Amino acid sequence: MKLVIYGVPCNHHADGTLPTSAELYHELGQNAHLKGWNMLDHPNWVKSALLNPSKTKSSFSFALHDMEGKLNQALCTPCYIFGKACKIKRTQSYIQHCQCERCFMLTHNTVECRCPTDYKRCGICSKLRHLQLEHKATHCPWLHPTIKCDCAPNCFNCRYQGLPTKGHYAFGDNCPLKKNMHHHGSALVPPLPQPQAQPTLAPLAAVTKPAPTFTSI
Ligand SMILES: [Zn+2]
Ligand SMILES: [Zn+2]
Ligand SMILES: [Zn+2]
Ligand SMILES: [Zn+2]
Repeated sequence: MKLVIYGVPCNHHADGTLPTSAELYHELGQNAHLKGWNMLDHPNWVKSALLNPSKTKSSFSFALHDMEGKLNQALCTPCYIFGKACKIKRTQSYIQHCQCERCFMLTHNTVECRCPTDYKRCGICSKLRHLQLEHKATHCPWLHPTIKCDCAPNCFNCRYQGLPTKGHYAFGDNCPLKKNMHHHGSALVPPLPQPQAQPTLAPLAAVTKPAPTFTSI
C-alpha cells in the first residue's frame, strides 16, 4: 500500500539538505497509531521537494503493509511529522498499475509480494526458477526445433480467468485484465492531486474524505 503524506514541514538541515529517509521514518514511528506497522519501503520525498529548496511544506511517500484494515484509521488520523499534523492519502498510481513484477499477480504490487526474495517466475511460460530473460525453448512444454523459443505470446493471468490468452504476455500493458483494472480503479477513486503537479498544498481542514477501501479483483 503506497501512501503519501502531505503538509510535511521541510525542516532543512543546516547545510540545506532535507531530512533523510531514516529521519522521516523515525518521525512516522513517533505516531502511536502507526507503531507496529510493517514498513515496506523507506520514506522518500516527492520530486518537487527535492527540486525546490525554497519550499517550506511538501510531501513524502512510503509504503505500508495493510494489516487488519488499519489503513482506514491511518487515513483518518492526523499523523504528526516534526510536530505538525499531516494528512495521509493513498496514491492513485498504486491502483492503476497494481501488478507484482516478481510473480505477475494482479492482486498486489512488488513491495507487497509475499514470495521469498529469491523467488523467480518467468513472465513468458509462468514456470518458476527462471526469469523471462532466461527463458529458453526447453522451458516450454513441447519440443522446439530451435534453441530459441518462438512461441506466440500468451498470458497466464488470462488463462486462470478463462479469457483469451493469445497475443500478449502477463507482463504486457495490453493485457485486458490490466486494462480493466485501470478503468475499474479510476472509476471508483476520485482523482487525487498528484503531489508533483500541486503548486500549493491544500489546508489540512479542507482535505477530502479518504478514498473507499479496495477489494482486489
Ligand atoms: Zn508477487
Ligand atoms: Zn520461461
Ligand atoms: Zn516456446
Ligand atoms: Zn492477459
